[in-house]
Amino acid sequence: HGWWDKVRVAPKNPIVSVNESFLADPFPHKVNLAMGTYRDDNGKPFTPQCFGDAEAKINRYTLEETNSSEVSSKFVMESVKLAYGNDSFVVREGLYAGVPALSGTGACRLFAEFQRNFYPDSLIHLPDPTWPNHHNIWRQAQIPVKTFHYYDPDTKGLDFDALINDIKNAPDSSIFLLHPCAHNPTGVDSTEEQWREISYQFKVKNHFPFFDMAYQGFSSGDLDKDAAALRIFVEDGHLVGCAQSFAKNMGLFGHKVGCLSVLTRDIKQAAAVKSQLQHIAHSMYSSPPIHGILLVTMILSDPNMKEQWKKEMKIMANRIRAMRTTLHRNLEDLDSSFNWEHITNQVGMFCFLD
Ligand code: PMP
Repeated sequence: HGWWDKVRVAPKNPIVSVNESFLADPFPHKVNLAMGTYRDDNGKPFTPQCFGDAEAKINRYTLEETNSSEVSSKFVMESVKLAYGNDSFVVREGLYAGVPALSGTGACRLFAEFQRNFYPDSLIHLPDPTWPNHHNIWRQAQIPVKTFHYYDPDTKGLDFDALINDIKNAPDSSIFLLHPCAHNPTGVDSTEEQWREISYQFKVKNHFPFFDMAYQGFSSGDLDKDAAALRIFVEDGHLVGCAQSFAKNMGLFGHKVGCLSVLTRDIKQAAAVKSQLQHIAHSMYSSPPIHGILLVTMILSDPNMKEQWKKEMKIMANRIRAMRTTLHRNLEDLDSSFNWEHITNQVGMFCFLD
């Protein structure tokens, strides 16, 4: 036999295919609705104004000489503050194991590897539907995937009862992936009251919640409000995991800056978990590129830059909301016989029409 004879062309990513058709289409007024990327009124991506200042400061460092463990600890500290809250006991007492990750995707993959290393017989429970790559990520890490009820096509909202039933019926100590805000692809989020109930049911079953937070700020325009789900679980005494991406809310797509954090019972456990996460990451890519990490750390640790970024992020969230309202109004003005309320009831960048 010849080498690679068995290798067939992998299935195409459907989003990439739609994008290719978009690029090939000569229509001058085309709009690309396939990509989950923010665009401003001029069709341009979001770049925080403070990037320029931060970049200038970073250039003064010799990147090669920067102590990477010091840089990554500072980056992780700023990231977890953003997720769990500045004043969270988790941050204050160091009850987390955190590592920089290759954006949200890398954080998910790293967690999946960690899961396989320490819970080789476990499954991952994913919402139905979810970001399709979640399926690939856990499959590649050889962890079986099971889905739980999430979206209800009849109401174009959350199928809360079915979701709760699936939580109750899963074997004790199952691992679930949850989207804390701006669910991709449905735009359907749980209310605070529903999160409290979900957290309670998780407690009863000793399930582990892994939050994939790729859009913090995009639901409400407020970083703290969008982290409410995560914080409810922490308040209720859960240990949680969290994948954070700075791709969208900082417009850092290609830089792939993200953070994986796992909460632990005490600092001894935190040190052990962190060392294992570093060990896994080291065998896959040694360490992540440092430039984007420095940029994010610079912005998050400088009160002025952070405030400015938050303001700009809010502008983005407001524009997304305004686009939803306008689309809804225009459809109503066309005397459509359909009910389009889900366009404004759903939140974030995504809208599920089906
Ligand atoms: N999780 C979800 C829910 C996403 O929508 C995305 C990006 N589309 C990711 C993770 C991956 O994020 P990143 O681009 O930061 O790798």
